[in-house]
Amino acid sequence: MSSGHALASDQAMLEECNPFLSMARGFNTAADHLGLDEGVREVLRQPDREMKVSLPIRMDDGSVKVFTGYRVQHNTLRGPCKGGIRFAPDVNLDEVRALSAWMTWKCSVVNLPFGGGKGGVICDPRTMSNGELERLTRSYTIAIMDILGPDRDVPAPDMNTNEQTMAWIMDTYSMHARRTTTAIVTGKPLSIGGSQGRREATGRGVMISANQALKIVGMRPENARVVVQGSGNVGGIGALLLHQEGYKITSMSDMYGCIYNEKGLDVPAVLLHLRRQGRLEGFLGADHIQASEQLELDCDVLVPAATENQITSRNADRIKAKLIVEGANGPTTAIASKMLEDRGVVIVPDILANAGGVTVSYFEWVQDRMGYFWSEDIVNSRLEQIMIKAFDEVAEMAKRHNVGLRTAAYIVAIDRVATVYRMRGLAN
Ligand code: NAD
Repeated sequence: MSSGHALASDQAMLEECNPFLSMARGFNTAADHLGLDEGVREVLRQPDREMKVSLPIRMDDGSVKVFTGYRVQHNTLRGPCKGGIRFAPDVNLDEVRALSAWMTWKCSVVNLPFGGGKGGVICDPRTMSNGELERLTRSYTIAIMDILGPDRDVPAPDMNTNEQTMAWIMDTYSMHARRTTTAIVTGKPLSIGGSQGRREATGRGVMISANQALKIVGMRPENARVVVQGSGNVGGIGALLLHQEGYKITSMSDMYGCIYNEKGLDVPAVLLHLRRQGRLEGFLGADHIQASEQLELDCDVLVPAATENQITSRNADRIKAKLIVEGANGPTTAIASKMLEDRGVVIVPDILANAGGVTVSYFEWVQDRMGYFWSEDIVNSRLEQIMIKAFDEVAEMAKRHNVGLRTAAYIVAIDRVATVYRMRGLAN
């Protein structure tokens, strides 16, 4: 590896990729710039509340299995907690805790009146039937119901949960509350209080962030070659919107493979193929390359939109992009981020770049509470206003403190929460 960075040992890599340590690094650097005193740091570092629940479920074969679920509420100073629920075999408290804190900073950086929360259930949804998933979702909702509510904690989808999961949560909560309570979750189907534009919102936010950041790099969309990792809600829709904006998408990937065409992919055709075949494999208008090569392709913009810890100290030196727009949560470790920024690579951090999703979730919550629903045009233009304002505030902070956009985003976010904390004071 070049530039004198020794290959990290496995133990060091585990630490580098630990989401809680990564979040703490980002937090501490920003807190130093803000000159936050130790007491305020202590308050903002700790989650307000952590709930662990046991969920006995009758499986389809008649047996009973007990699942473990978590809900962590990191901070409620600026409003109810907001954050997704993930179903995955490797869910653990450390991860949920870190993600809940990230949600506090993400909501704050785009100035939404929410704190941060996150939930997770340890399970393997691929091996479960729809009925088992429904019973698990309903049981989880009942178990954490005392700490949920439109004014307390408003979940949303995350990994392996979707509109249907949110509909089950809304229904279970409403049955127990004895009134239909649409504002209890966001990311719902349109027919039960979802918002226009929610499905595209995170990809749209990625596109808006890329447009803003491209001005810093001094490029125009027509000249920018883009590599997108992940072709799901964020990557697939992000790639399509960037393509429509005039960017040349040269590579896309999913968990099964990676395609590349130096002349630019026909993104609508790629997505049609993906819808029909369930994977990118077999797409004819491109070469198929190794997944490990994708992030290191010669390109101008890299959009990691799949999963966490994709750019680490092991590959950061080989990344060629001038601009990285983080569609996924935590795709770049704190160490890799510093290595890249030292080389002049501009990184739009996850808490800003993928905040389009939570912003339209906020719109959904507002519309549910008003009982008055907006057109897609209104949703999209309000999203654009919020994203551009947040981007400009972060860019301005980066200049003022002479730091990268990641640290600047944390500074903006932490400063807002700390200000509310000082205004409200301690309860004792
Ligand atoms: P998704 O399940 O819709 O799509 C994930 C995509 O990534 C799929 O195409 C999958 O095949 C691919 N993938 C998984 N592992 C991969 C790998 N190692 N290499 C290449 N491709 C891989 O998920 P999503 O909603 O698009 O979420 C992606 C990321 O964005 C996650 O980190 C998520 O937390 C974050 N995020 C999502 C939203 C949202 O609104 N959906 C909002 C903010 C952040």
